[in-house]
Amino acid sequence: MFHVKQLDFDVVVVGGGHAGCDAAHASARVGAKTALITLKMDGIGVMSCNPAIGGLGKGHLVREIDALDGLMGTVADKAGIQFRLLNRRKGPAVQGPRAQADRFVYRTEMLKQMTTLPGLSILVGEVVDFIMHLGRVTGLVLSDGSEITARSVVLTTGTFLRGLIHIGDKSFSGGRMGDNAANRLGDRMDSFGLQMGRLKTGTPPRLDGKTINWDVLESQPGDETPVMFSFLSNKPNLKQVSCGITHTNMKTHDIIRDNLSRSAMYGGHIEGVGPRYCPSIEDKVVRFSDKESHQIFLEPEGLGDHTIYPNGISTSLPQDVQEDYVRSIKGLENVRILQPGYAIEYDYVDPRALDSRLALNDVPGLFLAGQINGTTGYEEAAAQGVVAGVNAAKEAVGGDPVFFSRSNSYIGVMIDDLTTRGVSEPYRMFTSRAEFRLSLRADNADQRLTDIGIEAGLVKKSRAELFSDKMEHLEKGKSLLEGCVVSPKVLNQNFVKISEDGKQRSLYQVLSFPEVSVSDLEMIEPKLSSLNEETKTQLKNDALYATYVERQRHDAEILKRDEYRNIPSNFDYGLLEGLSNELKFKLRTVRPSNLAQAGRIEGMTPAALALILSKLNRQN
Ligand code: FAD
Repeated sequence: MFHVKQLDFDVVVVGGGHAGCDAAHASARVGAKTALITLKMDGIGVMSCNPAIGGLGKGHLVREIDALDGLMGTVADKAGIQFRLLNRRKGPAVQGPRAQADRFVYRTEMLKQMTTLPGLSILVGEVVDFIMHLGRVTGLVLSDGSEITARSVVLTTGTFLRGLIHIGDKSFSGGRMGDNAANRLGDRMDSFGLQMGRLKTGTPPRLDGKTINWDVLESQPGDETPVMFSFLSNKPNLKQVSCGITHTNMKTHDIIRDNLSRSAMYGGHIEGVGPRYCPSIEDKVVRFSDKESHQIFLEPEGLGDHTIYPNGISTSLPQDVQEDYVRSIKGLENVRILQPGYAIEYDYVDPRALDSRLALNDVPGLFLAGQINGTTGYEEAAAQGVVAGVNAAKEAVGGDPVFFSRSNSYIGVMIDDLTTRGVSEPYRMFTSRAEFRLSLRADNADQRLTDIGIEAGLVKKSRAELFSDKMEHLEKGKSLLEGCVVSPKVLNQNFVKISEDGKQRSLYQVLSFPEVSVSDLEMIEPKLSSLNEETKTQLKNDALYATYVERQRHDAEILKRDEYRNIPSNFDYGLLEGLSNELKFKLRTVRPSNLAQAGRIEGMTPAALALILSKLNRQN
């Protein structure tokens, strides 16, 4: 073979999507000479689907990436054109920051971050083969014959491995619209003998905002006080905009129903499994046939761009049907479709072949991150990127691997879910997947992870210093609160109203009552007034959950002792008070034979397991 050029790196990351960027950046941050190789320079940081970052569960992941000094949070903050904290009215544990992003700014900012980090090179090319030595991956071959050697390789090829795009009964090869599929690399992956499968996902048509009748539509602004992703950001960088809201109607549903057989999905052209929780409009019309309408958010794709992303109507119907059903919707009667919606099928690797560093057990030197592992979503991809990137670097240049656990992070929950349970449909993060969700909050991601990042060498000095300052303030505040013990009478004299049970409490315990704030306690402990607002808010969040977190830890310890306690096959979950109907249903279906197995059921919590255990104890 003719070798055009030969290059050598510690780590090479294949793919410039969300997993690839955060993987390469993490690898270079810990000191490995790193290259990111991707198909197109302007493909770096591309959002293949909706122009939004975060949301429930996903927002937690972005905060965790940021706590480790990763890219996604700061880039999303720079590009955000509408910030909303989801579940604002619920407790901080289940609130999810979300931002709609200007696609162009997101890409530009990501490219800037990637090209300004010392030790990180960007190469453009198509990877088609691996260089192997004694069964270990030691480099890559590009389609032009160039060879790149590396001590570790991270593959983050997203939906590109043997990607097949479907629009109605038309199918063609592609990694996403406008990009070639990675077919040669897909074929090469077969030779490793890994368990692989097909998944699918879809996207809606893109609309020309200039042809939408905005005047008749409801509009949804962002939050008045935007909550940012990064612990380092304090306000949006770009002008903030509103979204439009419209709805499908019976006419829309009739058009879709009449043409179902022409949809790629319903016409039998697709074999891959799609995400159940992110159904296409065809799925919604069939599965929820009694619903007369479905909500659609009309989301601007950028400030200098009139493209609109209609969130909620992803489809694989033919283009003429897409035009008909879209134009049956209020405000969209004269809309022009700029790009049709489509579905895409692609190869993924069964993630049970990976260890918790995201390295393949049977192919030394090769790490996988992102959609290739059966996940869906930018945030899931970027979070895996950090894990694979840092660990590939540690393997290449030496140093302890970095592990994440279910009890310290959503990242740990995801890695454990993927590597132990595998996937049966595209995996996305939900808060219900985390059994320790009361302690894994978006607001305390830095308290949980920044020290781990500092220890691993992932966190730059300026962030480490800010974090240390923040922790000092928090510790000072907490010790002031804990050092002052008062009776309800003293509290009442100072206008702090809690139950009159005569119990002495520290001010930190008093702060755990939802209606009490740090400022309310300043009359009792005047030194509290010297704390800044950020510290006061964080102390409130920490105190609010302190009792639950302690109870959770206690439950987890007890359960650890009884993990292998048998559950009789006729155990009646229906009799357990305090267990949700959803969990009862799952337990009845799975019929776990012991508590350890019950604990692996999706959405299971330590509190629910404790209920089962206490019932078992009573039965014996
Ligand atoms: P990608 O972002 O796909 O990046 C892959 C990168 O690999 C690209 O830069 C590509 O150039 C590079 N590459 C591939 N092969 C090679 C090669 N051989 N050599 C060099 N470079 C290569 N997510 C959701 O959460 N919700 C949705 O509704 C949703 N809908 C989607 C609809 C569509 C049509 C698509 C395509 C994706 C959708 N996604 C959705 C998924 C989301 O886009 C991905 O989860 C996310 O982008 C995955 O990130 P990644 O880094 O793993 O891969």
